[in-house]
Amino acid sequence: MIPIASPLIGEEEKQAVIAVLESGQLAQGPRVQEFEERFAALCGVRHAIATSSGTTALLTALLAHRIGIGDEVITTPFTFIASANSILFTGARPVFADIDESSYNIDPDLIEQKVTQYTKAILPVHLYGNPCDMGRIMEIADRHGLIVVEDACQAHGASIDGKRVGSFGTGCFSFYPSKNMTTGEGGMITTDDDEIAERARLIRNHGQSQLYRHESPGYNFRMTDLQAALGLAQLGKLGKWTRKRIENAAFLTERLNNVITPQVMQGYVHVYHQYTVRVKGDRDQALQELAEGGVGARVYYPLPVHEQPLYRQLGFKDSLPVSERMSQEVLSVPVHPALTQEELVKIVSEVSKL
Ligand SMILES: *Cc1c(COP(=O)(O)O)cnc(C)c1O
Repeated sequence: MIPIASPLIGEEEKQAVIAVLESGQLAQGPRVQEFEERFAALCGVRHAIATSSGTTALLTALLAHRIGIGDEVITTPFTFIASANSILFTGARPVFADIDESSYNIDPDLIEQKVTQYTKAILPVHLYGNPCDMGRIMEIADRHGLIVVEDACQAHGASIDGKRVGSFGTGCFSFYPSKNMTTGEGGMITTDDDEIAERARLIRNHGQSQLYRHESPGYNFRMTDLQAALGLAQLGKLGKWTRKRIENAAFLTERLNNVITPQVMQGYVHVYHQYTVRVKGDRDQALQELAEGGVGARVYYPLPVHEQPLYRQLGFKDSLPVSERMSQEVLSVPVHPALTQEELVKIVSEVSKL
């Protein structure tokens, strides 16, 4: 079976982790600081703050912006649960705006209808590695005085007209093993705002400004130097891997004509965390047939957030037809940089049979 994801861990990663083990400095230390500096440079921002996961990056970013009880945050229902749950955990209320079916991302036309006197922020998700329409989103945010927290957990290095995601609003990234680069578990916040960076650093570490001096409530959301050493090795290869993802996607798009292939807007760099298509017939049947043909296809995501049991129990009664329909029609096939030419050819031939 051709796997949907395949983390690439080489000799460099192994040596980097062993060096940290031998140094005796295992928790947050110099490797974390170096990883933050290099990641900030990648995104073209002044600050990057490493965290224990993408989920804790999102929660920390929202808390650093003082989002909490009584606030509303507008987001997409077509995402991994952590995007919305990070809002819930601040005490604020997620408000869902439906997606645009050509990008699978939040539809800017529908955001403004959801703005109320309680709206504090917009949390767009660059789904599958394809940037949201940040021009429109930043313009809406400016008009209503809203904060923007970008969920870029699937979009390391993606950009619009050369400007990287994570540099429009406050960015949040994940380094889970299936993502475009990994630290095992891990996350990163990116920002140009000195004050937000400072608050995020406090929240990540018990609100501690000096040893045993605590300024604010905080958690232990720190990254370890072991993770950062892995991340530094991976970061050096991210550009090459991203080019391979884009090449693999182009190969598939040129050859697939019985499914709806990803659309990329002019000036956008889609980094293909996933290569997601829409099939005409029964999607679950298609998944089954691909599995039988040796292609590890997956559905991201089979149930939109507002229809999750948790959200139904919380009283969310939204009807968001595009997200609901897409969750029945999409499937993702492998596009990761470890694919061989033979595997790419096989993916084309199996999808073409659907
Ligand atoms: C992976 C992911 C997260 C959460 O990241 P973790 O590192 O797994 O906590 C959040 N949002 C999106 C869109 C993701 O893909």
